[in-house]
Amino acid sequence: MDSVLLFSLLLIAVAIGWALGVRSGKSKASLRKPDWFPSQEELLGNHSEGFVQKLLESSRDAETLDLALRIGRSLREKGETHRAIQFHQNLLARTDLSQSVLNDVELELALDYFHAGLNDRSENILIKLSVLSAEAVGKPALETLVRLYEEEGEWQKIVDFHDGRRPAFEGNLRRSVSHAACELAIEALDSGNYLDARKFCRKALKIDGRCARAQAVQGDMAFRHQEPREAIRCYLKAIELDPNCLAALLDRLIVAFRAVGDDRGLYIHLKDVAPEINYIPALVSMVEVQAPHAGFDAAVDAYLERLSNRPSHYGFVACMGLLARNNRQLSESQLRTAYDILRRLDAKEPRFFCSHCGFEGRQFRWRCPSCNNWSTFKPFTSRTSSLSNFKDL
Ligand SMILES: [Zn+2]
Repeated sequence: MDSVLLFSLLLIAVAIGWALGVRSGKSKASLRKPDWFPSQEELLGNHSEGFVQKLLESSRDAETLDLALRIGRSLREKGETHRAIQFHQNLLARTDLSQSVLNDVELELALDYFHAGLNDRSENILIKLSVLSAEAVGKPALETLVRLYEEEGEWQKIVDFHDGRRPAFEGNLRRSVSHAACELAIEALDSGNYLDARKFCRKALKIDGRCARAQAVQGDMAFRHQEPREAIRCYLKAIELDPNCLAALLDRLIVAFRAVGDDRGLYIHLKDVAPEINYIPALVSMVEVQAPHAGFDAAVDAYLERLSNRPSHYGFVACMGLLARNNRQLSESQLRTAYDILRRLDAKEPRFFCSHCGFEGRQFRWRCPSCNNWSTFKPFTSRTSSLSNFKDL
């Protein structure tokens, strides 16, 4: 059984023990007519139909209802979505539950449907619940509804829903809406509908004034219209709002600056941002822009100094690529700096690994300290074999 589930069930068992203690202290009548409570074995078992049915029938007060909701949730999290749906539908069919409990159960049911891919059913419930003012139901319902629309690529629905329920959208939810508007702007841009693209960018900025992506899309629009100055203005605005988006804009930013013949402007702006976010391709671009003016060696010196402050394999490989492309070699002092960088990178590399459990270390050991197996240590070579796990490659 999943260890997280096991742990949560143990917690529930403790909670029931506590609830029982409180009950026995409160009322003797409840001792004469005890409700059914699941044993620890039942809680840790496989949630048989009989057990679930008993739980459904015995859920009368806050503690047992809370337990019922947790069990329903655990069914869903275990992947038994259809049983969770059945469980929550049976709870909803009861006539003795308060409206607030019914709302909780409906939210769980909506989540079950969402996990089962029954999005239409989930959507109907979530729309109904999202108007509730109760924080514990209205907010998660709204968040799940936005997630559901995001999964379906229903960007317009997110924007429309926001327009109808503006006060309920705050924080991350507002950000989701501005990104939905950006998605619509990109769709419009790709189909050549520039008026709509502009309209959706403005919408995104109205929802979130700090939406860097909306500025980036406006930059893309100018870029496609062969308006490099306007593209630069928008791209720089986007980077000012979120320096990390330089990674998405670097190539077009370089082309736009080159189009207006402003290498110096490009260098100044890259220098402001690239070292701060340590984006290696931008640092390499700085060398390429700086080299014709300040000299190749001076540009590489500056690059190595930055790499020395924040060493990375990626940065080192990029440096070697830069030298190879320009048919250059490191000077003696640069070589010493490069050696120092490599040495510090190597200090973090393991020398040996356990062929049984994968434990890595710098010392050879006859017995693995992690899995306690004997003679499983081998010299560490590389992680090349695991590179296929990277989807970007
Ligand atoms: Zn081991």
